[in-house]
Amino acid sequence: MIVTTLGTSHGDHTYCRFNSSTLIEVGEQLYLIDAGAPVEALLIRQQKRFSALRGIFITHMHGDHIGGLPGLIKLLLKYREPGQHTDIFLPDADGVPALTAWLQAMYLDLAVPTIDIDVTAEGAVYSDAAVQISAVGTQHIQRRLADQPLSFAYVIEAEGKRIVYTGDVHPDFSDFPPIARHEPCDLCVCEATHYDMAAALPILADCPIGKLVFNHISNQWHGDGEQRLRKMIDQLPFPCAIAHDGNEFEV
Ligand SMILES: [Zn+2]
Ligand SMILES: [Zn+2]
Repeated sequence: MIVTTLGTSHGDHTYCRFNSSTLIEVGEQLYLIDAGAPVEALLIRQQKRFSALRGIFITHMHGDHIGGLPGLIKLLLKYREPGQHTDIFLPDADGVPALTAWLQAMYLDLAVPTIDIDVTAEGAVYSDAAVQISAVGTQHIQRRLADQPLSFAYVIEAEGKRIVYTGDVHPDFSDFPPIARHEPCDLCVCEATHYDMAAALPILADCPIGKLVFNHISNQWHGDGEQRLRKMIDQLPFPCAIAHDGNEFEV
């Protein structure tokens, strides 16, 4: 698997980072976690084929994670190839009619069955011959009903490897995905904005993680701050990276 951190910023774009989107390649197949702007432009820059995009998994409905989705869907439809199909998973059922209405307002022809818009629920959400993807509820967005999370981490399993992608988490870090605490993962992609890094490091240090990539990088870790963060995370007992836009990680 190849993981490319297309956009690695926190809630806003910054002078060197765009909003969140991460590409996962399994052979010829493409999967996307989050679709912050300008995701479609970043895929074009990476020279990826839109028709190879099998699934788009949104962690939560904040604009920095979903703002590029309408433009991406436009290109999925505009350049569709025979047999192409993309499943899109939104974490909040209210988002489905809202997105559909916006796409219709863009005069897109949704009668062509190129995309399906589904709602994420905890547990297994998607599988094909190449991957299995499951969702773990987080506390980043306050729930309307106790048993229905509105924000998710995703677990991607393919080629005998496992990736845990945290999405945005709660400020107390209590919702860091249990699977990453208790079961080995080859790669954990962990956001780096909404919690106290010094308090989180001892928790991370105890996790059976093969490699950790920080994304969703807060302003305080930009510029000179990157060296301060580097010093802190160098104490962890596994290799760590601070992602920039366009970085590739082989799993
Ligand atoms: Zn965010
Ligand atoms: Zn958020």
